[in-house]
Amino acid sequence: MTHLTPADIARFGPDPQATFAANLHEVQARIAAACQRAGRPRADVRLLPVTKTVPAHVLRLAHAAGIRDFGENRLQEAMTKHDALSDLPIRWSIIGHLQSNKAKYLARFRQRIHALDGLGLAAELNRRMEAEGRDLPVFVQVNTSGEQTKFGLAPGDLPGFLDALTAFPRLRPQGLMTLAIFSADQDRVRACFRLLRRLRDDSRTSHPQIAGLSMGMSGDYETAIMEGATVVRVGQAIPGPRPGSDAHYWPGLIPDNR
Ligand SMILES: *Cc1c(COP(=O)(O)O)cnc(C)c1O
Repeated sequence: MTHLTPADIARFGPDPQATFAANLHEVQARIAAACQRAGRPRADVRLLPVTKTVPAHVLRLAHAAGIRDFGENRLQEAMTKHDALSDLPIRWSIIGHLQSNKAKYLARFRQRIHALDGLGLAAELNRRMEAEGRDLPVFVQVNTSGEQTKFGLAPGDLPGFLDALTAFPRLRPQGLMTLAIFSADQDRVRACFRLLRRLRDDSRTSHPQIAGLSMGMSGDYETAIMEGATVVRVGQAIPGPRPGSDAHYWPGLIPDNR
């Protein structure tokens, strides 16, 4: 049995499992509807639920609600949860910026990296994977909004970066990843997704394996699907609003029109 604290109940409600299952159902239905509007097969789009800041004991209920893929943006938090939930068949993905000196910790669990954004990190990851004798699927993060606060390569640096990545055979680049501009204005958000798609299309001529587009979060995943997303990373719309400054805009929260 999962013991819920008063703080858990305040944040997730009295029956988190039922809430997560209902929210998951709603998100799945919206993904299916967006695929239909976009004229795309449902199987083209993978949902990666984002579980950051949700405590491990509450994540047991997310697993019970049917969630099997967990996306985390902080390595330390991911490792702690991975160890606490090692009895469950969960696939972990790291979706946030990773420092090169942390690459060694990845050995503890097998997931994909959504935020590869530097050659130092690539070299370190490749070295680790070589030592373990395995490959690592990666998405290359691009800064499509030009915001200083965001990680990722400048669009102009992408072609050279992809060429340089071929020196690291243990890394299997699968596509590009971005965070759209933090805005309630869907046109500006859409422009970020369009840019990533164009960069993907351009990259594909010399790097055919760059096929995926990891883009779209709780506030904009339907727009992202219209623009070609193959992976949507959805947090708050499933476990509920996240307290603190990391809560990006989504319709359940107050818009921030910076
Ligand atoms: C938190 C996060 C998400 C999910 O954001 P939500 O607003 O919770 O849907 C997606 N991608 C990255 C990189 C994140 O850090």
